[in-house]
Amino acid sequence: MNMSLILDSEKCTACGACVDSCPFGVLSLEGENLVIGEGCTLCGACVEVCEAGALALPETEAPSPRPGVPPGGVWVFAEQRHGVLAQVTRELLGEATRLAKEIDAPVAAVLLGDRVEHLVPELQAAGAQRVYLAEHPLLAEFLEEPYAAALTELARRFEPEIILAGATYAGRAFIPQVAASLKTGLTADCTAFAIDPEKRLLLQTRPAFGGNIMATIITPRTYPQMATARPGTFKPLAAGDSRDGQVIRVEFNPGETSPRSRFLGTVAEIKERVPLAGAEVIVAGGRGLKEAKNFNLLEELADLLGGAVGATRAAVDAGWISYPQQIGQTGKTVSPKLYIACGISGAAQHLVGMQSSDFIVAINKDPAAPIFQVADVGLVGDVLEIVPALIQEIKKSRS
Ligand SMILES: Cc1cc2nc3c(=O)[nH]c(=O)nc-3n(C[C@H](O)[C@H](O)[C@H](O)COP(=O)(O)OP(=O)(O)OC[C@H]3O[C@@H](n4cnc5c(N)ncnc54)[C@H](O)[C@@H]3O)c2cc1C
Repeated sequence: MNMSLILDSEKCTACGACVDSCPFGVLSLEGENLVIGEGCTLCGACVEVCEAGALALPETEAPSPRPGVPPGGVWVFAEQRHGVLAQVTRELLGEATRLAKEIDAPVAAVLLGDRVEHLVPELQAAGAQRVYLAEHPLLAEFLEEPYAAALTELARRFEPEIILAGATYAGRAFIPQVAASLKTGLTADCTAFAIDPEKRLLLQTRPAFGGNIMATIITPRTYPQMATARPGTFKPLAAGDSRDGQVIRVEFNPGETSPRSRFLGTVAEIKERVPLAGAEVIVAGGRGLKEAKNFNLLEELADLLGGAVGATRAAVDAGWISYPQQIGQTGKTVSPKLYIACGISGAAQHLVGMQSSDFIVAINKDPAAPIFQVADVGLVGDVLEIVPALIQEIKKSRS
């Protein structure tokens, strides 16, 4: 099929309107002749401005109809490291349970590793009605190729309708390979999911255009519908319910897989004092703190509350605190029980990383600061007066 712009030179008046309209500079006039150069994206801008009707877009193939609904339900990639389940897996199983109810589908976890069977009850307690378990020495440490091969093979065999994974180092590394092998779409770094129950579409929301808008993306023509989500975005199911389910043990046959990467060893990460991930209390600071030394106040308050210190990108960019403590779209996503935002305006890119916190206290001298819209308690005033006063009060009440 001809997939280039169609020019009817009989009709062309060489007016040049199309040349001016082309955002890619592909069109030019050579005397009375219109020349279509390399790089046309078929955007159609020229067709719209051509009053002579000399330009047309090629007919495109009608999209192939959506295949029948696969039977495998909603899957969560059960991320584990050295036999310890990643918290994001529980969060995604909680979200998968909510989504699956809307389409009356089962929830399954895919557990890859070596000697990881002990994690099955944890996955069941977190909401997995089925656990697909593949154990093999090659899956002991995370390596992209065997993990991608194993998940792709399982998806081909058991046909999930949806696959969710954490937007973690591992998820970001191998999930795109799985989506490419399955010839389906993937939305990375989602911050919200919903279901269109009539069309059984997964609505995948994520920041787009530098975080200036939230885009909702669908995968309307292929299965599985695949997405990754940041850790800390969703809530796990409430603990305590006893849940069980089916375990489907599958052979992983590495076959021709000869990974281009090899596992050499583990290097311990230098951690911040109290790690942000999983902290129940976070005291976060922004540009309103004015200078680096004022973060000492936040550290003191965090220590008193047994919490961690976080920051906005503005504070990190100013060099007041290091990047691992940045919260937001290009930092970490957190969901503590208590989040104290100090001198933070509440930009969308920051809110996306903390707004699922259970209780938010905001301190800002500007009563119109957007952070107050998500705060449960707002203190209007100077953070450099309020935080020391809070510290004093806590110390007094403890003594
Ligand atoms: C692509 C992209 C990604 C981004 N990713 C992130 C991200 O991951 N995380 C993030 O945080 N930002 C991110 N940003 C930046 C974001 O848009 C904001 O610029 C940033 O969050 C603002 O930080 P802030 O609230 O500290 O500073 P400001 O917006 O400058 O706010 C400072 C606040 O402090 C208050 N204040 C000043 N003095 C005092 C005082 N003495 N007492 C009390 N309050 C006071 C002010 O009223 C103001 O509301 C991103 C931006 C882009 C474009």
